[in-house]
Amino acid sequence: MVDPKDLQLDTTPVVLLIDDSQFVHRLLDARMRSESISLIGEFNGKNGFERAVEDSPALILLDLDMPVMDGFETLRALKEEAKTKDIPVIVLSGMDSSQDKVTAFDLGAIDFVTKPFELTELRARVRSSLKMSALMKMLSQKAQIDGLSELYNRSFFDDRFKEEYDRAIRHGHPLSIALMDLDHFKSINDTFGHPAGDTVIAGVAKIAVQECRSSDIACRYGGEEFVLIMPETSPADAFTLCDRIRERCEATTWAQHPGRPVTISIGIVGATDGAGIQCTPAAMIELADRNLYDAKKSGRNMVRASDINGAQVKIAKAS
Ligand SMILES: [Mg+2]
Repeated sequence: MVDPKDLQLDTTPVVLLIDDSQFVHRLLDARMRSESISLIGEFNGKNGFERAVEDSPALILLDLDMPVMDGFETLRALKEEAKTKDIPVIVLSGMDSSQDKVTAFDLGAIDFVTKPFELTELRARVRSSLKMSALMKMLSQKAQIDGLSELYNRSFFDDRFKEEYDRAIRHGHPLSIALMDLDHFKSINDTFGHPAGDTVIAGVAKIAVQECRSSDIACRYGGEEFVLIMPETSPADAFTLCDRIRERCEATTWAQHPGRPVTISIGIVGATDGAGIQCTPAAMIELADRNLYDAKKSGRNMVRASDINGAQVKIAKAS
């Protein structure tokens, strides 16, 4: 999983050139070499659009006059596709037409450059667009991170879970989620103060991240509650992972209250075959919440997992 602490600007941004002219490709290839960018190219709008979806370049240089799918159509398609709508596009045009400029900006272009290029100027425009897009990306990533736990926040979870849910159903892949809640957390705040409580939240989040595999997505769900999205994971496998988290929480000694261990209760729901998921994402969360509630009711420090159809998979109690 992406460690939120590793968020940084890309070192070598990829720039996609979409232009039907071999000459322009050769020219930019030669003259952009001094820039710290990696230039990739396509020769028509259709391929360019598909390449953008696949490679998520940091910037697109888009020719207007191209056969089959022209620059305006391509720009429209790029701005309508969720995966490419935020990629800045500099339009390249052989004509210095005000109407074209207005149309390009209205469609969402960030800049407009007239051919033949003044290469120094084009390089400067590329640099400034890349800088802006890197900053925008960093801001939007930061907006997805919960400051205390450094996990993804609730709104990121809501969007991402929906995506993973759709993907699991579409491909018939396994998918599990886990809701985790710290046991008697209020008493930590009440007894040892809120800074101690904050340390526990950050510490348990860290344990969860360390136990997660690269494909798992750990989020803070609210207060002292966390949620894990585990794509490609059956509820039985999710159970194994989550029980390790439970064990590690129990075994951790906290500097601010060494005599007061912290335990966690976890409710899991999942599907071994995503094609069999019949309920909504919200109902899936509710099922996980029910398992969490049962774990709490049955004594806490416990993991309960069930299949989406309600079959009980596993229950682990503290030893
Ligand atoms: Mg052209």
